[in-house]
Amino acid sequence: MTGLGWDHLWVNIHLATMVPSTEPCGAIIDGAVAVTGDRIAWIGKRDDLPGGASRPAAAVHDGGGRWMTPGLIDCHTHLVFGGERAREFELRLKGASYEEIARAGGGIVSTVAATRAASAGELLAAARPRLDAFLREGVTTIEIKSGYGLDTASELKMLRVARRLGAEAPVSVVTSFLGAHALPPEYAGRQGDYVDLVCTEMLPAVARSGLADAVDAFCETIGFTPDETARIFTAAASLGLKVKLHADQLSDLSGAGLAARFGALSADHLEYTSLDSVRAMAASGTVAVLLPGANYFLRERQMPPVAAFRDAGVPIAIASNCNPGSAPVLSLLLMLSMAATLFRLTPEEALAGVTRNAAHALGLDDRGVLAVGKRADLALWDIAHPAELAYWIGHNPCHAVVHGGAPRAITT
Ligand SMILES: [Zn+2]
Repeated sequence: MTGLGWDHLWVNIHLATMVPSTEPCGAIIDGAVAVTGDRIAWIGKRDDLPGGASRPAAAVHDGGGRWMTPGLIDCHTHLVFGGERAREFELRLKGASYEEIARAGGGIVSTVAATRAASAGELLAAARPRLDAFLREGVTTIEIKSGYGLDTASELKMLRVARRLGAEAPVSVVTSFLGAHALPPEYAGRQGDYVDLVCTEMLPAVARSGLADAVDAFCETIGFTPDETARIFTAAASLGLKVKLHADQLSDLSGAGLAARFGALSADHLEYTSLDSVRAMAASGTVAVLLPGANYFLRERQMPPVAAFRDAGVPIAIASNCNPGSAPVLSLLLMLSMAATLFRLTPEEALAGVTRNAAHALGLDDRGVLAVGKRADLALWDIAHPAELAYWIGHNPCHAVVHGGAPRAITT
């Protein structure tokens, strides 16, 4: 192997590679990373650099003794939506009931109406500052769901906006079709008919468009039943689309177990998941995606069965769940803090949850760890120890970000 032709070489850095090893965070103290094109070409101890630290590279960067991690991955967001729900939040704090909020035009129906009314350009302009907040914190891959259109044209519009965000911003966007997010008002009392629409019209249109990387649904007493979810997953599978599920957030409908039966990439939320479902997830390799921001915002007391996931060897990911109703979250770092404080994850588990395990949750095996051949998605941090990423509340120590081998300014 020759080092000639390296595009970038970082030295004077410590590496949290997140590759499972005997070292916490797969750490390499006083390491070096070389990048060619969009891939990591060499990584290891600086002293082991072939040819020594003076090896030529087109650009040599002094990391100043900082820590480098894989670029962060937010594997569950509803980043694209019309309007916001701050007024509803205010009413709720003043004691308004669910019915009063609905009468005042609040609830998910208001987001659906605003999203349908907005043009693609308006949705894009509203989403971009939200996306930029994540980019400033070292996020290099982000999942974005549809689910506020709830008719074929509006769902496709949302997915197109998500794809455009990925084309215009220095970030990889992964999309999920979430037509079965809520029942649109025009289908009130006719939920079966809406599920028919999802399966026979929306899913084929989404598959033809190539705009969705996976199919998601909201399986809950206030969402879709396990039988309806199974119908949607069967239709998705027949079109060659991978599935994931909002499961067991407010009650145990065995949603996570259902997701596991369909070989889902992930089951998300999971506050009420049973031990049987945990075992099924372990057997199917389904990732547990925990969303502490929603837990916090809704003041939910029920916590996901973290110890059971650990014992069963289910990979745990953490995500922002950025959405206007239950998690107006624009910080993935804050989710590390909440995962540690609310869910008792260790800082290392929380960091694995937004790197290695978040990549698994999206079915991506080319990122999430620092290793030769992986994508050069890198984040450089002004910290003395990786645990600081879960420790500070409301502080962003991100110093620099590299997306696909290209350093990007973080002050977007
Ligand atoms: Zn969600």
